[in-house]
Amino acid sequence: MLIAGWKPFSLVDVVGRITFTTWACGCNLKCPFCHNWKVAEWQGCFEIPLEKFREELRDAKDFVDYLHLTGGEPALQPNLVRTLAKVSKEEGVEFSLNTNCTIPQSLELIDLADHVATDIKMPFEPLYGVNGNARIFFNNFKKCLNKLAQSKKPVELRIPVAKGLTIRYIGEIKKLVEPFDREKVVIVVNPLVTEPLTDPRDKAWCSEHCYKGNMPEEEVKEWEKAFKEMGFKVKVKKWIND
Ligand code: SF4
Repeated sequence: MLIAGWKPFSLVDVVGRITFTTWACGCNLKCPFCHNWKVAEWQGCFEIPLEKFREELRDAKDFVDYLHLTGGEPALQPNLVRTLAKVSKEEGVEFSLNTNCTIPQSLELIDLADHVATDIKMPFEPLYGVNGNARIFFNNFKKCLNKLAQSKKPVELRIPVAKGLTIRYIGEIKKLVEPFDREKVVIVVNPLVTEPLTDPRDKAWCSEHCYKGNMPEEEVKEWEKAFKEMGFKVKVKKWIND
């Protein structure tokens, strides 16, 4: 059960919620924009000291909405996910799982979560950054998304937006989100940003497809309109205050 650390209070990991956030190591994808790529590649990881972790969660629990497990890809370590879901329950804190939903274990593990966050990465081939397996991962993702839509759990659907690429797939993304309950879902549009705001895995890719600052206002309006007219709550992230 390898993690890269935890933060007892975070305001930035789940929209509108305070979380006790933990980072699981390892990931099956190689997203070129990933800014947690060191964690995804098992760097700087250590065995979770469960007793100390539980003590800090106990101290924080009255002030947080969720124990949020992110990564990396937590579903690569099912035992870690099961253990933290159990600790959450024992400590009376809701459990939130951020998974890329592309491996079969995700489908089982989302059942343990009170809240799920996942990314809709489109176009999936360049955004997954893997050779050969992208279609298999995307098919798993669609199954996971369907299961989430039927589950009626609160879900945060995040759309990482690659400059000049993702906007062309807005119609397909709308089809993917259509089955979700409007009351249970928040759509978060994440314009991908590059250095110096982040440290992306593939700096050359990001220099072409990541924003240097905020998304232009016209594009923000286009994303907002697309989902608001479907009845969803939508938030477009801004990285710099105007
Ligand atoms: S799924 Fe997330 S953690 Fe994994 S490589 Fe992509 S952005 Fe990084």
